Amino acid sequence: MQRTLKNVDYGRDLNSIVIGCKHFRYRELVGSEVAVKHHIKNIPNEQQWQSLEALAQKVLEPIRAQFGAIKVLSAFRNVQLNTHSEIGGSKTSNHTRGIAADIVPLAPKVTRMQVLEWAYHNLDFWELIAERFDSKTKGWVHIAYNGTRRIAGLKILSQTSGGVKPIELAQLQELYGESEVRHA
Ligand SMILES: [Zn+2]
Repeated sequence: MQRTLKNVDYGRDLNSIVIGCKHFRYRELVGSEVAVKHHIKNIPNEQQWQSLEALAQKVLEPIRAQFGAIKVLSAFRNVQLNTHSEIGGSKTSNHTRGIAADIVPLAPKVTRMQVLEWAYHNLDFWELIAERFDSKTKGWVHIAYNGTRRIAGLKILSQTSGGVKPIELAQLQELYGESEVRHA
């Protein structure tokens, strides 16, 4: 059985607050039940760590400041983890580069739709996806930051069981805005 991975293996103290942040700890950026279960060493390299730190500083903290606590369902997933059958992601996902996080708000009455809308209007992002919003309670906001200002006209994507497609904010709100408030 694989020994428990230590901080020294990661190159960061997982219990520390991420540099330049107030709320997020390193372990939140690499945590994965699937990795633990299957003994996958989900350890970022230095470049990936720096990307994760920028993601936490420029995306996660501003969302935290706006909406209160948010849960990072998953951020970094190396290729081995991301392509594992229990995750089913691609080799080229932004998660494998350390530039993407899947998040949900924890504060009462804050919806995923609100987080997504605010991020769309206020943050520099590289990728913004309403993931599985069609499952009403299980969806999450996927947001990626690659260190640059966002490209003008970059569209929100909607990922459902039917696939991924660009979508207008107004259409997303029509589809999921109201139902989500009811279910919150
Ligand atoms: Zn994601």
